[in-house]
Amino acid sequence: MASVNDIRAQFLKYFADQGHEPVASSPLVPRNDPTLMFTNAGMVQFKDYFTGKSASPWPRAATAQKCVRAGGKHNDLDNVGYTARHHTFFEMLGNFSFGDYFKERAIELAWNLITREFALPKDKLLVTVYADDDEAFGLWRKIAGLPESKIIRIATSDNFWQMGDTGPCGPCSEIFYDHGDHIPGGPPGSPDEDGDRFIEIWNLVFMQFEQRAPGDRVPLPRPSIDTGMGLERVAAVLQGVHDNYDIDLFRTLIAAVEETVGRSHNAQTAASPRVIADHLRASSFLIADGVLPSNEGRGYVLRRIMRRAMRHAHLLGAQEPSIYKLVPTLVREMGQAYPELRRAEALISETMKLEEGRFIRTLSRGLSLLEDATGTLGDGAILDGETAFKLYDTYGFPLDLTQDALKSRGIGVDLAGFSDAMERQRAEARASWAGSGESATETVWLTLRDRLPATEFLGYDTETAEGVVQ
Ligand code: ATP
Ligand code: MG
Ligand code: MG
Ligand code: MG
Repeated sequence: MASVNDIRAQFLKYFADQGHEPVASSPLVPRNDPTLMFTNAGMVQFKDYFTGKSASPWPRAATAQKCVRAGGKHNDLDNVGYTARHHTFFEMLGNFSFGDYFKERAIELAWNLITREFALPKDKLLVTVYADDDEAFGLWRKIAGLPESKIIRIATSDNFWQMGDTGPCGPCSEIFYDHGDHIPGGPPGSPDEDGDRFIEIWNLVFMQFEQRAPGDRVPLPRPSIDTGMGLERVAAVLQGVHDNYDIDLFRTLIAAVEETVGRSHNAQTAASPRVIADHLRASSFLIADGVLPSNEGRGYVLRRIMRRAMRHAHLLGAQEPSIYKLVPTLVREMGQAYPELRRAEALISETMKLEEGRFIRTLSRGLSLLEDATGTLGDGAILDGETAFKLYDTYGFPLDLTQDALKSRGIGVDLAGFSDAMERQRAEARASWAGSGESATETVWLTLRDRLPATEFLGYDTETAEGVVQ
């Protein structure tokens, strides 16, 4: 059986043999791009080549790119533990043409890889094209010989990619694998397309136009190709499993979670080992790329991911810091492909241990408070904003942790009440500041700022340029 490591290598070799430069993954913190919180697609490191801002050193490239989708426009944090196909950290395999080959060759390369090299059965595959992209429709007919019923035209932005309000853009084509009618979910474009029966494995973007201004779109003189295939998703298909969390890599990580943190014995905690395994990867890779848990920006996203994992560890019965003990297993599994993980191993373990130690005391007290506040509430109820704010402010519960903790019971959080409570606390802080006669205002301001981490929530929506979308 091909392992995740084998499949990554096979992908890169296939494209190298077809004249693509194998390029290393770029870091999760994008270089020279303050608009983007984390690298979330393979094309991020090549953005300047696609816009023409700088010239690509090679006409074609291929990568296995580390991606995190836990903030900004692409946020899969809430999907983890609930779908078979989403992670916060995952690897995106991609081939790129910088003004070299275009649609026909891109479709041919993709089709040959999955049906010849990977030997996927053709009758399990179906594709989507953008509604008016007759060219792509015809190419799928010609190259893959797919029947018209398996080339689905989609008119939404899911199948039209744009880098931003201006810049390169173009239609997409997504390749789906049908895991079988025993799994709920409909084909792309149907009302229940979000189910996990038809899973998108590969997204081809045909960068064909340049959006110069609203309503002003011109053809690019040298169109380009950007593709993204989820390594874990294609591994699931190749390993004959439906769920990403059943691939070799995740089985190993989940076994380590069960050994070290605890085992799930009921429906309420069934997803916990997967969530911990997922969040372990995201946290470790983020720390290896220089992010540290903090109350602002990227560091706060990391902290939210780590604390969510810790809540799940608590659900599994952990009373002591334990997630940091999983780091060696992860490094053993992924350290060869990503040597930065090995280099940062000590830092990752120490950072996690410290964060777990810091949170574990308030976590269990906060969870008791949450239990007291919601014990009698039923499905559809709302937790008051005051309590959610107290959990946040006194017990260090990120808002989304509280929401996640209540989600399985169908309980929501009064967000307006939460904001009001926060605003009131700020106003009080301001008032006592003004009345304190403090002259070193700067010190006070800095202290105040440190106490109000949630102001950073505003930052998550500032992203513009994104990689392969939908
Ligand atoms: P979906 O519709 O399933 O959420 P997407 O259309 O958002 O996927 P793209 O932005 O097209 O995904 O990313 C390219 C590829 O990366 C996808 O075809 C998929 O194989 C993979 N991928 C995307 N998001 C995730 C994720 N959260 N976890 C694992 N793989 C992912
Ligand atoms: Mg897609
Ligand atoms: Mg999609
Ligand atoms: Mg998505």
